[in-house]
Amino acid sequence: MDRRSQISILLEDPATSALITDIDGTLCRIVGRPERAKVPARARKSLEILGDRFGTVACVSGRPARVARSMVGVDSITYFGNHGLELIAPEGEKPTVQLDPDEVRRPADFVRQHDNPFWVAAGIRIEDKGPIQALHWRGADERTEAQVQEIATEAEQAGLAIHWGRKVLELRPRGMEGKAGAVEHLLEGTGVETVAFAGDDRTDLDAAIRLREMKDRGEISRLVLVAVASEEGPPELVEMADIVLDDPDEWLDLVEFLAVGESS
Ligand SMILES: [Mg+2]
Repeated sequence: MDRRSQISILLEDPATSALITDIDGTLCRIVGRPERAKVPARARKSLEILGDRFGTVACVSGRPARVARSMVGVDSITYFGNHGLELIAPEGEKPTVQLDPDEVRRPADFVRQHDNPFWVAAGIRIEDKGPIQALHWRGADERTEAQVQEIATEAEQAGLAIHWGRKVLELRPRGMEGKAGAVEHLLEGTGVETVAFAGDDRTDLDAAIRLREMKDRGEISRLVLVAVASEEGPPELVEMADIVLDDPDEWLDLVEFLAVGESS
């Protein structure tokens, strides 16, 4: 069966369909500096159309919810930011955060206490995402990777949760369920039966596994898992995916197909 036929099950009953997508590496390409990543205009148009038509349309991202929404540029859909820590509802103004405030502060405290000129000299860039602190080392060498491993061990000893992504280590508050918790929360009580989920990274694998469990439990009826494959992404995600794509443009083609029937 071709990709379009697989994804078009969402069109059979749009009101009970959900489209949930990651942003970086899925809706847009990963670039050296995350602040330069751009979501193409055709994604915006398509998601706007689908937001009106589908039961649920959501972007689930590692970025802060506000940043995710400004990157995508559609206000009428849901954004789950910081891997499920923050939610902005359609047309919502402020993200809501649900976690113990003391836990939320811990990662930033750890970075303040440990950040030193050696981190910078080693090519580690710190992205302050509020409750999550991300250490990026794209472009740096193996010695830096070893150093990041040490930081990870220390962070765990200091009571933080750690999460590895594509050339990024995230220090998170404990008790975060990540994107797995986000997708479950998104679909709870919505009456959504058919779900398509697209992602490229380890955090997306958590969501994919949770969605598969929800399907096994009968909480949703149909699931299409879409993986944008890369050398850095987890092979497990590609293995369990129904549709495997080579790059974000191919996902945009499918999203556009859902919205307007054809892709440009
Ligand atoms: Mg991604």
